[in-house]
Amino acid sequence: KAKQNGTNDFQFFDKSMVDQDVNKFELENDLRNAIKNDSLTVYYQPKYNANTNNITGAEALARWKHPRHGMIPPGVFIPIAEEANLIVSLERMIIRQVFSQLVVWKGQKYQVPRTSINISIIHFYQEDFVKFMHQSLIEYDLSGELIEIEVTESIMIKKEDGINEQLQALREMGIEVSIDDFGTGYSSLSYLSKLSVDRLKIDQSFVAHSQENSEIISTIVSMATNLNLKVIAEGVETESQIDLLKSLGCQEVQGYYYSPPLPSAEYETKMNREFPENEHVLLT
Ligand code: C2E
Ligand code: MG
Ligand code: MG
Ligand code: MG
Repeated sequence: KAKQNGTNDFQFFDKSMVDQDVNKFELENDLRNAIKNDSLTVYYQPKYNANTNNITGAEALARWKHPRHGMIPPGVFIPIAEEANLIVSLERMIIRQVFSQLVVWKGQKYQVPRTSINISIIHFYQEDFVKFMHQSLIEYDLSGELIEIEVTESIMIKKEDGINEQLQALREMGIEVSIDDFGTGYSSLSYLSKLSVDRLKIDQSFVAHSQENSEIISTIVSMATNLNLKVIAEGVETESQIDLLKSLGCQEVQGYYYSPPLPSAEYETKMNREFPENEHVLLT
């Protein structure tokens, strides 16, 4: 059961374990080894067009099954990785796993929808990040059109450090850039208009209480429209949320209502089954 439902993946893991039973230093060491041994995996959560119910893409999400403590949520191990200087190697491992998976899917009969990868702001401070992406695309013989990166609003805090140039370079390779958890962080609207991005991802906290937040959602949608950006809502769990989102002009959606994050084989089955109706293109 836990396997089928993204929500329940972590039901036996209590975050307080990090402070108590599980020594943080131990967890950090175990994570370092897990990265070295390539033993983290990737789940894929499909994204949908709410009007046609076709898959438009998927988000890659890191998963870590600890040998003794079981599944540990990314909400726990990503901050540890960021603090312990492990996030760059962790994300490069995820990027390689996603790329080699895409090569397999590309070799099959159907087209592959774009896959997004979450990238920590810290990874942008690694000066060879853009070069790594470029070389990986060449190494795996993939088009950037198959890739999207999701970065949080923290990308907008520092304006002087060449991040926009990095985003531009990625987009020139065909990679799309989305602002994740939009509306929750630091938002300089004037800066957003200058930032080289493709899409806003409406944070799931707004979607969870979409009635109360309908004005916020509608503001984000019209901001996206005015800035010529695409928009997607994450954390969609109910039909009434979908109806409201559609009525507010947001037609790309992602959430448990449609599908939890899935192991690659299950996502592949879904793609296969829903082919050839899949659009395999992103909405504007
Ligand atoms: P995120 O990028 O905003 O991803 C969405 C999170 O919401 C995922 O949690 C997903 O499983 C969950 N979710 C999807 N649909 C629903 C829904 O309908 N309802 C609810 N309540 N939740 C839903 P997950 O997989 O636990 O990941 C949590 C966060 O960890 C991600 O948030 C992302 O910020 C981070 N993360 C995961 N993998 C990576 C990675 O490779 N690199 C980085 N930097 N961060 C990652
Ligand atoms: Mg994300
Ligand atoms: Mg998000
Ligand atoms: Mg989030």
